[in-house]
Amino acid sequence: MNFIEENFNKEVYYTGLRCRECSRTYPAEALYFCDFCFGPLEVVYDYEAIAGKVTKQSIAAGPQSMWRYRDLLPVASGSLIDLGAGFTPLVKADRLGAELGLKQLWIKDDTVNPSGSFKDRVVSVSLTKARELGFKVVACASTGNLANSVAAHAARAGMECYIFIPNDLEEAKVVTTAVYGANLIAVEGTYDDVNRLCAELTSERPSWAFVNVNIRPYYAEGSKTLAFEVAEQLGWRLPDHVVVPIASGSQLTKIHKGFEELVNVKLVEPHPVRISGAQAVGCAPVANAFSDQSDYIHPVKPSTIAKSLAIGNPADGIYALDVVRKSGGSCLAVTDTEIVEGIRLLAATTGIFAETAGGVTIATLDKLVSQGVVRPEENVVVMVTGNGLKTIEALAPYVGPTFNIPPTLEAFEAAVTEG
Ligand SMILES: *Cc1c(COP(=O)(O)O)cnc(C)c1O
Ligand SMILES: [Zn+2]
Repeated sequence: MNFIEENFNKEVYYTGLRCRECSRTYPAEALYFCDFCFGPLEVVYDYEAIAGKVTKQSIAAGPQSMWRYRDLLPVASGSLIDLGAGFTPLVKADRLGAELGLKQLWIKDDTVNPSGSFKDRVVSVSLTKARELGFKVVACASTGNLANSVAAHAARAGMECYIFIPNDLEEAKVVTTAVYGANLIAVEGTYDDVNRLCAELTSERPSWAFVNVNIRPYYAEGSKTLAFEVAEQLGWRLPDHVVVPIASGSQLTKIHKGFEELVNVKLVEPHPVRISGAQAVGCAPVANAFSDQSDYIHPVKPSTIAKSLAIGNPADGIYALDVVRKSGGSCLAVTDTEIVEGIRLLAATTGIFAETAGGVTIATLDKLVSQGVVRPEENVVVMVTGNGLKTIEALAPYVGPTFNIPPTLEAFEAAVTEG
């Protein structure tokens, strides 16, 4: 049921929404759960039609951004809300690989996105879709990075914007949201409290697009572009193993969906990709379920420096767990000390400064290698999803000047010789 978008003569290949539990189908509107079983909805595509149209060449001729994959994204509109997210570097991390004992290690460097995190991918899709569906106001519950990104994209589009955050966020994340002129509401509570409030507000304010509630099926699709880019940057091959940080679990499940779609539309050869999840010990509901071999995610009250991942009751946790298990990956958690060490190791071996979520992923990779889960000869890609400048306070106690000296040659010589 492809339809031709009037103004731009743009064919679209998504056909609607489908319940992830009972497979009932719904039109591509602002719907997010199934009326029959309350399962979450996801976007469905006509892969045969895409395979008939999209080629490696047509993608290469597209923009140097995530929108080069727009035929696999759920928007019809020719007018995108786009700050330039995506097509970020895939960095061959030989020095880090040598440190960890890996022969082929790649860092997907999403710290360089316009607002400094991978959230620009999901927001560019969801705000474009929200405007297309006729919404004038956008809103979100956020652990920080989503707040930054929604505020920035709404500012570009001239959309009114309400952002709800826990009141204990890092200062940089508050400032870099407020600067865009958003209505910023700090809520006394955890992210899970903020999210519950937004769920209630979604029914009170049906004319608002809540990025991670009523338009969540579209939001989630943006994460697939990480998988698309990795495959293209590896020369249209799938990696052996991918390590992904988990907050709600959405990104991990959509990276998996993205790899499957590339096979469906015949852009890559089928190849099993193991997917492993990374969490902080202070908020590890998915890693706990994995190690307990449980099929139920027990919510936790988060306490960790990795605030961007601090979702105690993750909406897609169960689906992320399923992907990890079925793909032959693992899910581990690391301590705050290990997170800081992970940030420093990544910075010192690659020149990439990641926020705490990046520390979680690198420290988890280290553990996965020690446990033999990630194998030395595997082609491994690690998602580094946020910029370190946003979480300076996590590092500040541990790093600083090597020497403090008066401005004389003698003082410098004395300091370096004494060490
Ligand atoms: C939001 C976020 C993630 C992952 O989020 P999911 O909810 O699991 O999709 C990962 N890293 C950073 C830096 C984030 O802000
Ligand atoms: Zn259903």
